[in-house]
Amino acid sequence: MKTLGLIGGMSWESTLVYYKALNEQVKSRLGGLHSAECILYSVDFARIETMQRSGNWEEAGEELAAIALKLEKAGAEAVVLCTNTMHKVASRIEETITVPFLHLAQVTANRVKSDGVGKVLLLGTKYTMEEDFFINRLMDAGLDVSIPEKNEREEINRIIFQELCLGKIKESSQQKVREIIKVYKGQSQIEAVILGCTELEQLFRVGKEPGVRLYDTTELHIKAAADFMLGG
Ligand code: GLU
Repeated sequence: MKTLGLIGGMSWESTLVYYKALNEQVKSRLGGLHSAECILYSVDFARIETMQRSGNWEEAGEELAAIALKLEKAGAEAVVLCTNTMHKVASRIEETITVPFLHLAQVTANRVKSDGVGKVLLLGTKYTMEEDFFINRLMDAGLDVSIPEKNEREEINRIIFQELCLGKIKESSQQKVREIIKVYKGQSQIEAVILGCTELEQLFRVGKEPGVRLYDTTELHIKAAADFMLGG
């Protein structure tokens, strides 16, 4: 098994999911007491979130690149960044390390495309929905990408940072996001929704089926990481 390096803590609520699901994948594929060979570097998210809000992406990129290098030096044979948003600085990480960087947006784009899906709604933080670092990967794969209206984007962003990253799952927010999906399904005939934030799957653990195919980027990223570790 290859050793995986994880950059987590953004937020730790979703890093927990990465750690657990990665171990479950290894256990289900190798059986018995097998578990994931991995090194986790978990950051203090408050500092990173301040950098996001103040637009200090360069410093954030430097910091995450330095962490990725530490992981490589500690024996990681590939690095995963356990957040969609911080893929805004993915190129800084990629140019710093010599081991593979398993890019979450690329993994997602490849999977959606190979399923033959063409029209998607992207949900995530305002950075992921509004900037081009994530959308471009999807569009380059030939996908037609819609994002919610401004007020809906603000609400989803609020739910992510003020609730899900703090471990709060509210029924009102589950309903709100389902309503947004329903509107776009009717209006724009989207075929699938990309949950482009590692915390969003929490809203779909319970409650009504959203009635449209969901691509959970956390799940896809973990599957790609397990494939890398176990070779296939
Ligand atoms: N984990 C989130 C994501 O996947 C949001 C937190 C962050 O801004 O990193 O985008």
